[in-house]
Amino acid sequence: MTDDEHEQYEAVVVGAGPGGAAAAARLAEAGVETLVVERGVEAGAKNVSGGVVYAETSAPYTVDDLFEGFREEATERPVTANYIHNVAGDRVRTFDLTRLHDHDTEWADAVLRRRMDAWLAERVHEATSDAGGGLLEGVRADGLLWADADGELIEPGDGRDERGARVAGVSFEEIEPVTADLVVAADGVNSALARDAGLMDWEEPEEWFQGVKVVADMPADVIERRFDIGPEEGEAHLFSGDLYDGVRGGGFLYTNRDSLSIGNVFHLDSVVEEAVEVSELVDALLTHPLLGRWLDEGYTELEYSAKLVPDSRRAALTEPYRGRLLVVGDAAGQMQAQGPIIKGMNHAVTAGALAAEAYLETRRLSPGAAGERYAEKLHNTGTMGKLRPRAHRLSRAVTEREPAVRAADRLVESAVGRLGLRALAAVGGVERLYNSPGLMGLLPDIRTPYVTLPAVLAEELGEPIREENGVTPPDLGDRIGALTYDVGEPHIRLRDDSWAASGAAVAACPVSAADYGGGCYRAEDVERDGRTERVVSLDTQPCIECGTCAVVADTEWDHPDGGKGVAFQRG
Ligand SMILES: Cc1cc2nc3c(=O)[nH]c(=O)nc-3n(C[C@H](O)[C@H](O)[C@H](O)COP(=O)(O)OP(=O)(O)OC[C@H]3O[C@@H](n4cnc5c(N)ncnc54)[C@H](O)[C@@H]3O)c2cc1C
Ligand code: SF4
Repeated sequence: MTDDEHEQYEAVVVGAGPGGAAAAARLAEAGVETLVVERGVEAGAKNVSGGVVYAETSAPYTVDDLFEGFREEATERPVTANYIHNVAGDRVRTFDLTRLHDHDTEWADAVLRRRMDAWLAERVHEATSDAGGGLLEGVRADGLLWADADGELIEPGDGRDERGARVAGVSFEEIEPVTADLVVAADGVNSALARDAGLMDWEEPEEWFQGVKVVADMPADVIERRFDIGPEEGEAHLFSGDLYDGVRGGGFLYTNRDSLSIGNVFHLDSVVEEAVEVSELVDALLTHPLLGRWLDEGYTELEYSAKLVPDSRRAALTEPYRGRLLVVGDAAGQMQAQGPIIKGMNHAVTAGALAAEAYLETRRLSPGAAGERYAEKLHNTGTMGKLRPRAHRLSRAVTEREPAVRAADRLVESAVGRLGLRALAAVGGVERLYNSPGLMGLLPDIRTPYVTLPAVLAEELGEPIREENGVTPPDLGDRIGALTYDVGEPHIRLRDDSWAASGAAVAACPVSAADYGGGCYRAEDVERDGRTERVVSLDTQPCIECGTCAVVADTEWDHPDGGKGVAFQRG
């Protein structure tokens, strides 16, 4: 194979989420012939977020810098108030988080991803077509092309680790391979390209969060009445405390134009440790008396979805490149949890635009230096400092050790600790701490801030919840039945079906449950070598491609082919 036998573009961008859209828009604007490929049947069909898009004042790029009209046409409602509810049983203590939310924020809007990404993709298609490329949907990148030191393409798996081998392009499932001077991997959390380049593995549950979400129907006038807001206003509500069987993480509720986004984001290692069924954790939130403030027996669920996201403090790549491959967004681990506030889409936009900028600055004089320049830009613009705060790295060694966790829990729960919290609250200190961006960026990944402290705050300072909640959530079978699928070939294969290797997926897979036979993962008792053994079986048909079992089970994990699998309507 030689380069002459392949279609050549100056740049290939894989993935049309916010990261890919930003990279492609910046490249096309500078006249770079750019091909964008997206595996979803339409951009956004595979994507899930809570989600609130932030435009940070300090960021070098925001999404509306790159896409005029974004707020007017692609978002739901601005978030004009933000609260955190600390819950213990039927008591709640609520703090206003608006100051934390407003810190470094130009604006922040709730979004639904199918609508938002499809809108971005239209602009990207126009801009890249004008520059001689375009956007292809329903096409899945399945790996990188590599060339040797003389520029000759190397067969897949053959010699890519030898000295001088470099990324030369991308291969696809549905179309012929394409060679390119620049490859931008904006292919999200289970990035096939980052993995192919040896930049990312899917080994450690500690590096990931799992988000599970529902979209509930609610007409605009009902939202405005129940939340007491105007047509140009919206709210974000966050939840923590004893709602989730001790799992570390929290809940969210965001107002859209005429629906609500409600869900949870948990540390994946905690989901595995507690072996809880994650769909039940969504139900725990939906049916909690507190949610009776806004929901009633008329609850109508429009969509159930889930996705892994990286924890940037552990997973963000400090050198997110390999030769001509530049990795942006979730694919590079760039998803920041600033305490309870989740910021991934904004960083994906920034990184996509910075990657494009780095290429544009180096393409003429030192074309091999784009990766280093991109890493420098992430550092110099302060983006990497937000993603991997130095103070968190230093404090982690102490705060995340089990004796320290036990001591912190004991202190918070003790009479002295409770007295201290009361005294602090009396002078507004707890709300001030919650609104401190520095402190929120440093929160250790332990149960104290997620579970113990919020529950004690509710016990000591809270009020009884007087609402009743009449919500009956759909069961898992109905949730799966309401989704749209175009089922293709099985895309995940169990390498080891033993309970020890893959059993965690039965609870952690959002479309599986121990007592539900129609999900992806099921437990089975089989006779092997004269002994009864518990094993796991897998049926990928109802898979919603969240990526969890790539990390918690022993699998060969791929995305389905282009256009196949689940297609979220809201996301
Ligand atoms: C429940 C939940 C709540 C969240 N809340 C928020 C929030 O409130 N605010 C916030 O900013 N972030 C939030 N996030 C995180 C946010 O969604 C991500 O950080 C963000 O989407 C990352 O953008 P991206 O462009 O890097 O990747 P993605 O948005 O994942 O886009 C990747 C794109 O690449 C495509 N793709 C993948 N593989 C291939 C392939 N092989 N070939 C072709 N195309 C491919 C995908 O289909 C997708 O369109 C949340 C996430 C979850 C799950
Ligand atoms: S089978 Fe795996 S990827 Fe699919 S929904 Fe379940 S955990 Fe997620």
